[in-house]
Amino acid sequence: MYDVVISGAGPAGSKCAEVLSKRGFKVALIDRDISWRKPCGGAVHSRIFKYYPQLRNAKFHQISGIAMYSADYHQFKYKWKDTRYYGITVDRLEFDNFLRNIAIDAGAELFDKNLSIDFVTRNKRRIGIKTKYANETKEYLGKIIIVGDGINSKLLNKLGLRKNIEELMFAKCAIMEGENNLNEDFMSIFFKSYKGYGWIFPLSDNKFNIGCGSMGKDHLKYNLNSIYTDFIKDSEIQNYIPRSDYKKIWEATYPLPALGVNEKNLYLDNLMIIGDAAGFVSPISGEGISPSVVSGNAAAEAAIYAIEEEDISNQTLKKYRFHPKVKKIIRNFKLNRYLADFSFEHKGRNISKMFELAQKDDDYREEVVDTLLFNNTPSKDFLLKLKY
Ligand SMILES: Cc1cc2nc3c(=O)[nH]c(=O)nc-3n(C[C@H](O)[C@H](O)[C@H](O)COP(=O)(O)OP(=O)(O)OC[C@H]3O[C@@H](n4cnc5c(N)ncnc54)[C@H](O)[C@@H]3O)c2cc1C
Repeated sequence: MYDVVISGAGPAGSKCAEVLSKRGFKVALIDRDISWRKPCGGAVHSRIFKYYPQLRNAKFHQISGIAMYSADYHQFKYKWKDTRYYGITVDRLEFDNFLRNIAIDAGAELFDKNLSIDFVTRNKRRIGIKTKYANETKEYLGKIIIVGDGINSKLLNKLGLRKNIEELMFAKCAIMEGENNLNEDFMSIFFKSYKGYGWIFPLSDNKFNIGCGSMGKDHLKYNLNSIYTDFIKDSEIQNYIPRSDYKKIWEATYPLPALGVNEKNLYLDNLMIIGDAAGFVSPISGEGISPSVVSGNAAAEAAIYAIEEEDISNQTLKKYRFHPKVKKIIRNFKLNRYLADFSFEHKGRNISKMFELAQKDDDYREEVVDTLLFNNTPSKDFLLKLKY
């Protein structure tokens, strides 16, 4: 019997497992396959260093600035003045195993090749997770269960919380290798005239991550393979990646939550939902790695409190939903959702306007970056300038 059973050893699950294990709790961390590379752009905000100081000295590619383009190719470039704000770009296969190993070193027991398929129930109470392991069925029992196995979670289906297509963004991305004209210190994001964007994020050794996606109803209007091909062949993009023979290291298509946190369904009796499974992804930028880690950390703190108080009911676990960091993310994502709708109005022209204003005003420049990419709340002044 474990104190806590976590399904999903992605960034959210690994952080949750690490925090609990460090405090001496017995944790089972279940994953269907740790050799899977999570489809992702792999851009990680500097906020993560607070939760993983080890990453500062790890060998991931450092990023010191960002170039953003509106649909009509209005450019906006920004370089962080302070090196503390530099982010990193990562290959998720390497990165996720880096975070998992930190959880294992802290004492969590990892169960790989286990596909979580259902809850174990006794007398109508959930008491664990049932998995498929090779041809067997296994059961991992625990006082508290944490669902952190991403957007396609089978456990979410069992809870009746599966998202419909309009609540999602779909994106296709690849890691490629070969000589290119990218500035290796800068990430580039290309907003589109439809609700979506493309990106090119440099990695070390002439590699780069390239991708494109569309959100909500626009996903139904536009074929993902076509917009991806159009994006790569676009003449502006070809300036950065002019060759036709890039080595494709990996390619995938995957959904991500597009409407922010599902705040009404974050916790039940002896159960919490974290990371992508709960919608911890910015509705405007698709940034979800740092928010997922924050949710994993907050859920671990709530679980520790509940077990120590010997009360694992939803009344105690609501501490997770009302954790100050989780509250802040929920509030900011709500505003981001509004801003996403506004930004893509008139075929994305509001983003051009934002970039035009930013060229003229330094404070505004910072606000554009923080609002579009890093889930900060825009000031009233920012919104007023945009409207008029
Ligand atoms: C195309 C794309 C691009 C993105 N780009 C960025 C970006 O550049 N920067 C950023 O910050 N965010 C980005 N995101 C979002 C980011 O990938 C997620 O927010 C983040 O990975 C969420 O972490 P997580 O731990 O909640 O879930 P995941 O990373 O999805 O991890 C879930 C884990 O659960 C395991 N699992 C799944 N199903 C089961 C099961 N049934 N049983 C057991 N284990 C299971 C998986 O193997 C995986 O290890 C992107 C997402 C997509 C789809």
